[in-house]
Amino acid sequence: MNIKIKESVQDLAYFGGSKLLSEPKSTSSLVQPDYDNFLQYSKQFFNRQFYTNNGVLVQLLEKRLAEFHQAEFCITVCSGFWALALAMTSLAIKGKQEIIMPSLTYRRMADIAAWACLKPRFCEVDPQTLAVSSNTVSACINDQTALVLAVHPIVNCCDIEGIVQLGVEHEIPVLFDSVESMYESENIGKVGKFGDAECFSMHASKLLNGFEGGYITTNDSKLTHKLKRLRTFGFEGPDNCTIPGGLNAKLNEVHAAMALANLDVIEQVVVDNKKRYMQYRKQLSRIPSIRLLEFDEKYKTSYKNIVVELLEDWSLDRNKTVALLNGENILARVYYYPPLHQKPMSYPFVPATLKDTDQISSRFMLLPCGDFVTTDDIDDIVELLAFIHVKQDEIKKNIERKEDINHTN
Ligand SMILES: *Cc1c(COP(=O)(O)O)cnc(C)c1O
Repeated sequence: MNIKIKESVQDLAYFGGSKLLSEPKSTSSLVQPDYDNFLQYSKQFFNRQFYTNNGVLVQLLEKRLAEFHQAEFCITVCSGFWALALAMTSLAIKGKQEIIMPSLTYRRMADIAAWACLKPRFCEVDPQTLAVSSNTVSACINDQTALVLAVHPIVNCCDIEGIVQLGVEHEIPVLFDSVESMYESENIGKVGKFGDAECFSMHASKLLNGFEGGYITTNDSKLTHKLKRLRTFGFEGPDNCTIPGGLNAKLNEVHAAMALANLDVIEQVVVDNKKRYMQYRKQLSRIPSIRLLEFDEKYKTSYKNIVVELLEDWSLDRNKTVALLNGENILARVYYYPPLHQKPMSYPFVPATLKDTDQISSRFMLLPCGDFVTTDDIDDIVELLAFIHVKQDEIKKNIERKEDINHTN
């Protein structure tokens, strides 16, 4: 245990004490592959002087990712954002307007729908798993539904089979946002081959780091053809922009090199993640007012994200808890807050009353994880949480006093 752990509430960095961790520790993966391996891949495109536009490394990466996900096709793009926007545009039923998506999700999701000219209809998530289910999605289906966007939560998967089945019954396409479930498997197989398509991100903070980047997996060859055109200006043959809505959303070769080098070591990354997760699980079991969202270990899981719920006995406000931790260089984050249906928006959406989501949205947070977090850091983080819990009443008073002073000044 760290000897620097606070003696009194005044020693918290939030109140002017020194920071518990000497370096900021975030919730991003930030894994670095072997440098020589990255260079080895990079030489292939560099020597050819072929830097982008469906180069050798992009093709290799697409082949390897399709195999990894047991899907027939993989189409890489420049970000997860454009993977989603292009997949939404391609899959939505023409003439219908609404896309069903959870409200408690990635903060830019409604904006992505706006790029695809779709109107979000927000659905609930299950308060225990934080995942959409066939029930919560089904409650939102109507004759304007153009597409279901089933987003996997940060820990574990949503009910893939139930939602796919629902889509089949109602003849509505189903797109998965599988960014947080890139490595997961279920009884029915590896994430990546379900529904009409699945979208992924290779942003540096995600499990597979390609600096930036994204991709779509699917078993549909027509969709693959269309997406490959859309990401390349809508070209059909040289200088012939036939497909409307074409963009420049290509992945370039150096990003593909980084992603390939990281894909080579993904199993080791998961082993390291598991060590951190196990340490959190062991230590957090000492604090009954905090519930760790446990990974379902029956099938493959990435052990990447550490998500906790603050239970009733944790009376300090979640946002203030995060602020206290951030003060100590512990870059904990609120879990998808505010939920999308509570945010002011400048484009069309269907207003929603979501009681479960409202409740859940003030209770969960993410704790630091990824390459920079050591087991000693985890011991310190949990020790500090235990300290905060014991002193929570005194801390609340001190925060109020501090806010009063700030107001009167
Ligand atoms: C990060 C993220 C995205 C967007 O990916 P980018 O590559 O950063 O554009 C989409 N969905 C989820 C769930 C994400 O976490």
